[in-house]
Amino acid sequence: MTVNKGKVFLIGAGPGDPGLLTIKAKECIESADVVVYDYLASPYLLEYARKDAEIIYVGKKGGDHTLTQDKINLLLVDKAREGKTVARLKGGDPFVFGRGGEEAQELLEDGIAYEVIPGVTSAISAPAYAGIPITHRDHTSFVSFITGHEKPGKKESRMQWDVFARSDATLVFLMGVKNLANIVKNLLENGKPADTPVALVRWGTTTRQQTVTGTLETIVQVVKEAGLKSPAIIVVGHVVSLREELAWFDKKPLFGKRIVITRARAQASGLVAELNRLGAQCIEIPTIEIAPPKDMAPMEAAIAGLDKYQWLVFTSVNGVKFFFDTLFAKGKDVRALGHLKFACIGPVTKERLGDYGIVSDILPETYRAESVVDAFAGVGISGKKVLLPRAKKARTILPEELTKMGAQVDEVTAYETELTDEGRQTLIDMLKDNAIDAVTFTSSSTVSNFMTLLDGENGKALLKDVTLASIGPITSDTARSLGLEPGIEADPYTIPGLIEALLTHYATEQD
Ligand code: SAH
Repeated sequence: MTVNKGKVFLIGAGPGDPGLLTIKAKECIESADVVVYDYLASPYLLEYARKDAEIIYVGKKGGDHTLTQDKINLLLVDKAREGKTVARLKGGDPFVFGRGGEEAQELLEDGIAYEVIPGVTSAISAPAYAGIPITHRDHTSFVSFITGHEKPGKKESRMQWDVFARSDATLVFLMGVKNLANIVKNLLENGKPADTPVALVRWGTTTRQQTVTGTLETIVQVVKEAGLKSPAIIVVGHVVSLREELAWFDKKPLFGKRIVITRARAQASGLVAELNRLGAQCIEIPTIEIAPPKDMAPMEAAIAGLDKYQWLVFTSVNGVKFFFDTLFAKGKDVRALGHLKFACIGPVTKERLGDYGIVSDILPETYRAESVVDAFAGVGISGKKVLLPRAKKARTILPEELTKMGAQVDEVTAYETELTDEGRQTLIDMLKDNAIDAVTFTSSSTVSNFMTLLDGENGKALLKDVTLASIGPITSDTARSLGLEPGIEADPYTIPGLIEALLTHYATEQD
């Protein structure tokens, strides 16, 4: 007899902040054969999935049901019957208005094994990120989680409005934005005081979080004026007033700032993570793709002939990475480099080299090629052979200056950068909607590629109210040559420098 190993995990994916996923959920996503998710589950979590995992989107955004609940149930059953491990990601907690119970019943009926991994529900976490503790000894003795979805006029309503209206309760409504006026009306009719504080928290715990507050009397108008839509949690009760004192998430220095990241996707994660931590909402529009050179022969030849070099110079993290990729692919290891001296531009490049167990002999003080030249002045480079693995089409100043100093420089292409336009439409739509506050440029090619993406549009007009943040003077010059004026320029010319410059810019703006 064969045993079917198929199993479904009903997983709480948390409310949106990817950091609020449980460790158990993460481990389960990492090992699943199939990952099924809907629109409330953060797409970031899919990055934990195996490369060969089947990823299925089942939608469910208001009326737009990509798959009906029946079809979702069937899908889970089918995949498990095939012997697969299925990770069914559900926003928040699967058993809190998540139909997890129904899915479990269906699985049980069909004899499919399942487990439930609870998640951080939006009912608690969205208020928490808005500075609203749903209980507080001075304010409330009970909390209710209530569906806001029950249609007005439903014959057998299960809504106990008289209980909800009891004076000190905290009421947390889910799925209630469209029905807000009706909720308010029922509470008032059942004696909840008109001055009871109310908050709505939209996209809670994410960098898109938006909070509005009012009272039972005013909230319908407040929400209308703010144009606030689903998904949002509605909190009714005196605890809402604590927000004034306890708000923390929306006080982050870059909260609410929508910042475009133009770096290659493979390199963007550090910058994105740090900006997110500071509260910014990052929109990744990569303008560059980094790929191995189309012609590998020069790089392979350089590696085969390493013995003839005395110096190895790296100008970027990618140069380091692709150099070592080729070295290892050729069956060599770091012992092949024992006779060499090293120079790196910039501390990040140096750090990356350090990952391979090598300490750079020279680290120029500033991060422009020009200062490498100064750094070499003291080390007797004349007559030495220098290998310079770097990007195709890199600037010529470094090899020229080293040659002037008497070195013999072999430049080899370690990697190529190509324009990518995957985010073009998103970018144009967002610019037209005034939905972007700043664009970061981390190299000259990000600027020129970015402007290429805007070909056919009036780029300058679209960027009129957008702050352009450049990593340093060379990138700024490229921007100026294309008619753009950076409002922010980093100093030092590094990613941390760029983040610091953004912080300073927005701190002064608020003064
Ligand atoms: N199981 C989910 C709730 C699903 S019902 C949970 O435990 O969080 C869908 C409703 O959840 C939405 O209409 C909205 O009211 C709420 N919701 C889910 N994620 C939210 C978020 N990030 N911010 C605010 N409300 C959210």
